[in-house]
Amino acid sequence: MPLEWINYQDAVRFYHAGRVAYFLGSPVYRLRGGINSLTGARSEIEVNAIVATHGTNKTLTHSYIPPLSNRTLFKRDGRVCLYCGQHFMASMLSRDHVTPLSQGGADSWKNVVTACKRCNNHKAGRTPEQAGMALLAIPFQPTHAEYIYLKGKRVLADQMDFLRSHFPRKSPLRHRGDVTQKAISP
Ligand SMILES: [Zn+2]
Repeated sequence: MPLEWINYQDAVRFYHAGRVAYFLGSPVYRLRGGINSLTGARSEIEVNAIVATHGTNKTLTHSYIPPLSNRTLFKRDGRVCLYCGQHFMASMLSRDHVTPLSQGGADSWKNVVTACKRCNNHKAGRTPEQAGMALLAIPFQPTHAEYIYLKGKRVLADQMDFLRSHFPRKSPLRHRGDVTQKAISP
């Protein structure tokens, strides 16, 4: 199960504490420690792109609802306005409530879409039907694995393969291409 993005310092702690059950993906970081004065050997820990740890996680259930933020919402919709279909920079985008809050709509994943500010202003306090604007896609609530992807700032190709294997079969996020091919070492 994909659980969380961790930094390499935390990953090294997991390796050192013997909490790593197995790892997947290519090595991303190689950290070197001190040199043994007797043998001259230098300690070294390699951190892989995906680290599985021992133990169970009880917080993830089927009723898990990921927190809603504009950053993850815009990424869910591929930074495309779901009314005019154009691609925008994040600063030009806004969170549109399909059923407006003023008409009892909720501030939740299934009632929010990415909209450019122009379309959002035009739609104003109306539903798409009232405004005569068609939605290009149906807003969905991400699963936990999808949410991990949405939160990722630089997703490596092998991490994406792993995440994708946990996405629902019909996930609209399956074919996203914003993946970093090359691993980066400090
Ligand atoms: Zn638009």
